[in-house]
Amino acid sequence: MSLPPAVPGGRRIDLHTHTRFSDGSLTPEALVALALERHLAALAITDHDSVEALDPARTAAGSALELVPGIEMSSALGGFDLHVLGYYVDGAHPGLIATLARFRDERMRRAQAMVDRLAQLGLPLDAAEVFALAGPGVVGRPHVAEALKRAGHVESVDDAFRRYLGLHGEAYVPRPAFAPAEAIALIHAAGGVSVLAHPGPMLPDSMIEQLVANGLRGLEVWHPVHGAALVRRYRALARRLDLIETGGSDFHHVGRGTALGELPVPAKALERLKEAAGVPG
Ligand code: AMP
Ligand code: ZN
Ligand code: FE
Ligand code: FE
Repeated sequence: MSLPPAVPGGRRIDLHTHTRFSDGSLTPEALVALALERHLAALAITDHDSVEALDPARTAAGSALELVPGIEMSSALGGFDLHVLGYYVDGAHPGLIATLARFRDERMRRAQAMVDRLAQLGLPLDAAEVFALAGPGVVGRPHVAEALKRAGHVESVDDAFRRYLGLHGEAYVPRPAFAPAEAIALIHAAGGVSVLAHPGPMLPDSMIEQLVANGLRGLEVWHPVHGAALVRRYRALARRLDLIETGGSDFHHVGRGTALGELPVPAKALERLKEAAGVPG
């Protein structure tokens, strides 16, 4: 297997990855093993709305790999889906645990509502299969999309989103509102550092300025959906707003999307996150 590219600062790190506890396919143990195989010095696990991978990953990593505890919280504002990364959150924080439990319940009800809606549209699915596809993870639209594909109702997952599950799809069911300001506050209450994930090409800078007013500490600059021009733009914005610049592969599956550690992220990103979180060295 080819190794990921060298990075400024010399330590190869990946600050955005997923496991089976959200919509990734690897167990925490397998993800840690892959990180070691790919010579990463540090790995952050940032599952969607879940911290369940963190303990088993920490055990698997031991002293061989620096494991950075993280989360990627889903939120929405003004028609934008905004993901807020939280680094060094305490996975045992009662407020965080309570909110994640509520999300899990809401997501199960929502998945069932989408299955019901699809049945009305003449696209029957076995709800149990949708939940089985989520495995131990939080259930979401990607699992409904995969079930639609397996049932032969759509050609591909993309097709499922375009026709049925996307914002303008016929079976789209919104999640109960959770604002990025709430995500930022909860991450900070749990001892973490908040970073806006993959802002992408469409988000107005004024929205990011608003989040900074809400306490946001960092901006994910290096991400597979950010081309070179966007990286330059967000680096300049991060400097102007005094935000920590971070990045990662958003790894979910072997052989699909960007490979683990493939996106060069400066070691400085992790140093600044640690400083902000008050984590030694
Ligand atoms: P949910 O949290 O259940 O609303 O699902 C959101 C997730 O669905 C995102 O994190 C993406 O991984 C995935 N997703 C959203 N839009 C698309 C799309 N157009 N094609 C494929 N996957 C998508
Ligand atoms: Zn994901
Ligand atoms: Fe995301
Ligand atoms: Fe992600």
